[in-house]
Amino acid sequence: MTDLLEQLKAFEGREVGAPEVGPDPVNQPMIRHWVEAIGDDNPVYTDADAAAASVHGGIVAPPVMLQAWVMRGIRPRASEGRNPREDLMRLLDDAGFTSVVATNCEQEYNRYVRPGDHLRTTTTIDSVSPEKKTALGPGHFVTTRVSYHDQRGELVGSMLFRILKFKPPANGKKAVEPRPGAEAQPERPKRPRPAITQDNAFFFEGATRGKLLIQRCTSCGRLRHPPRPMCGACRSLDWDTVEASGRGVVYSFVVNHHPQVAAFDYPLVVALVELEEGTRLVSNVVGVDAHEVRVGMRVEVEFVAFDDELTLPQFHPAPGASS
Ligand SMILES: [Zn+2]
Repeated sequence: MTDLLEQLKAFEGREVGAPEVGPDPVNQPMIRHWVEAIGDDNPVYTDADAAAASVHGGIVAPPVMLQAWVMRGIRPRASEGRNPREDLMRLLDDAGFTSVVATNCEQEYNRYVRPGDHLRTTTTIDSVSPEKKTALGPGHFVTTRVSYHDQRGELVGSMLFRILKFKPPANGKKAVEPRPGAEAQPERPKRPRPAITQDNAFFFEGATRGKLLIQRCTSCGRLRHPPRPMCGACRSLDWDTVEASGRGVVYSFVVNHHPQVAAFDYPLVVALVELEEGTRLVSNVVGVDAHEVRVGMRVEVEFVAFDDELTLPQFHPAPGASS
């Protein structure tokens, strides 16, 4: 066994932090919103009379809502200190496995939960795989097990959640060494990493080189974005890329004020930019007051290095466009 694998295996079976308690007990309003969103009209979830006459004898929550009862909000909680999962992720990051993708989730239900039940969870690191070759790149599968207990300590369900921590093909270099003293001040969270695949890696590689690339079907010549394996017009799997001029117009946009995620600046202008080549891409409009952004505004690309590993195209108004 390699040194790394030995270190990774040492995390198996370890509990991740203190038990988490659901912010609210199981309740009818959350159930109602959930079933409306999902489109589940089984009356045992919302109709007290029908539920009373059913095998359940009263309202129950949909089993697949299990995770909703302990889900944390968008803001990180006050620091509880580092836990073994963070240490494990850091170990993998430092070994170059910097990208992450969720691969599967299996839930098991021991009983229906009902309004008034108050769930809490304990999480353990179930297993860490040896290095595997995957389509995304070499990586380790990390499986965590979350156990859901009610207020009396009865196990009501459990969940296995597996992620792949992998070395992205676009950027196989090792994680950047932290700068001396960088640990001293709390670091701003990094902007979320794109999920890089064989199909879209060229786009992000291009961005790191200051090029805005568009995928082109080499059979019929059509341009397409977002990247995908097959041409929607002629079904060819053959493609190359062309470099865009970087000029375009704001086709549509929203200004995001809330909820705020620490890695972004607000107000955040999220725009669908139509390039002069004809394809559209989602990006941000920067370098202008959010109130001045207009549909049809002429914009130009710039490349912003958010950190040592992530450079993305962003757009600013073309000269004279914002007046
Ligand atoms: Zn084609």
